[in-house]
Amino acid sequence: MTATIAAAPPEFLARCRALLGEAHVLTAADMAPFLTDWRGRFTGKAAAVMRPATVRQVADVVRACAQWRVAIVPQGGNTGLVLGSVPDAGGRAIVLSLARLNAVRAVDAVNRTMTVDAGCILQHVQEAAAAQDCLFPLSLAAEGSCTIGGNLATNAGGTAVLRYGNTRELCLGLEVVTPQGDIWSGLRGLRKDNTGYDLRDLFIGAEGTLGIITGAVLKLYPQPKASIAALAALPSPTHALRLLNLMQDRCGSSLTGFELMSRYCLELVAQHFPQLPKPFTAPHPQYVLLELSSSESERHAVDLLENAIGAALEQGVIDDAVVATSVAQSRGLWQLREHIPLAQAADGKNIKHDISLPVSRIADFIAATDPLLAQAYPGCRLVCFGHLGDGNLHYNVAPPAGMANDDFLANQEAVNRVVHDSVNAFGGSISAEHGIGVLKREELTRYKSAVELNMMRAIKAALDPLGIMNPGKIL
Ligand code: FAD
Ligand code: ZN
Repeated sequence: MTATIAAAPPEFLARCRALLGEAHVLTAADMAPFLTDWRGRFTGKAAAVMRPATVRQVADVVRACAQWRVAIVPQGGNTGLVLGSVPDAGGRAIVLSLARLNAVRAVDAVNRTMTVDAGCILQHVQEAAAAQDCLFPLSLAAEGSCTIGGNLATNAGGTAVLRYGNTRELCLGLEVVTPQGDIWSGLRGLRKDNTGYDLRDLFIGAEGTLGIITGAVLKLYPQPKASIAALAALPSPTHALRLLNLMQDRCGSSLTGFELMSRYCLELVAQHFPQLPKPFTAPHPQYVLLELSSSESERHAVDLLENAIGAALEQGVIDDAVVATSVAQSRGLWQLREHIPLAQAADGKNIKHDISLPVSRIADFIAATDPLLAQAYPGCRLVCFGHLGDGNLHYNVAPPAGMANDDFLANQEAVNRVVHDSVNAFGGSISAEHGIGVLKREELTRYKSAVELNMMRAIKAALDPLGIMNPGKIL
């Protein structure tokens, strides 16, 4: 399909300048921030970066792209982790940044919905919801710069999925500019709508390969009165699963977070962010950060959590725990979890895996896979943490102490094979929440059946017959 893609000719750029204004068609050094991915792993080239301010302008630019067969890379906050938001090295594509489409269009407090532009920063959406005494629960460490359009395009997960679901579950309607430059307004605030194929769900998670999301209707929830966290220390992932069941049985939907972190993760955080709290004097093999939310009061949340933690200690499920006694203290505990990706980045490069497994099989997966890696790459360090309640692990492999990052990264494919073959054997997925992009495209063909891949290719060809939407990503 990429054969139809052309270089952007001068007439095309002139048309786009007429549509958007000279200042919003970048073609010089000012393109730089749009061309390199967040982790600094790849820098692509583009014919231009377009910065439309309205849905109409997005549609007009896409129409011009279709006319001149110019490839489009949609970009939100450029925080994606699989190279989906940056162009390839060819220099023929344009980057279409949604950053200027950043208005909250409407809030319907009775319907508990909010209609927003795709370029809204996630944190601003959360704040706009809070201003109406509502909760927009999507939460991830990149929330200060990622956009709701990017969250939808990647079906982002984060730390509140256990209670509220992925971004897909938080979206009722979409507005999309199709690869032909038409505007589909599917901004419906309906919780029930069985009127044929679900186009909304097709665009969510499509990583910009089927069209450009320009607006969305998001679900809002009642704001809990208080969310209180505890950090539990445990001997093993098996104990963490027992704790998960205990908490779910006792607390039901009040359990709003359940994050696993290995000892090495917290050691990395302590090394790179010494100012953060150090809750335990002696180290433990595993930790779980859990959070309970109460619609009554802070006191109620603390009591509920203290009772549940007491039961877990009594039953020998956990070795030790600290329970926050206020929302402020809870923030401090969450910071430990949120700083793991940052500590890893500060420590150097590593080979990342964003995997999901049936929750019941996680402990067995870790017990089976850790030794395989230790045998193949003696001394390699596993940075294993994640959203245990969702069956999602960030199972990252860092070089042995003293080995140069790049020397270790040369093993990426072989390391992936060990990890992903094991994931496959345990009935899991090679991408839980970050998507496929370019980074996992070859892996996808290895683990998905030909039947499934052919259906995906047929959908792509039907909606984007010219192949101009984010070519080379996913498929
Ligand atoms: P971008 O990076 O700009 O784009 C991502 C993909 O979506 C690209 O393929 C792009 O082409 C496409 N796209 C962007 N906007 C649109 C649009 N409007 N229409 C169509 N396609 C579009 N992800 C998680 O799921 N959970 C986490 O917990 C998490 N934690 C993170 C922590 C850190 C520190 C960082 C840096 C990233 C993390 N991520 C996480 C990954 C990333 O933040 C998410 O994938 C996020 O949803 C991307 O949003 P963005 O606006 O930055 O999108
Ligand atoms: Zn995550």
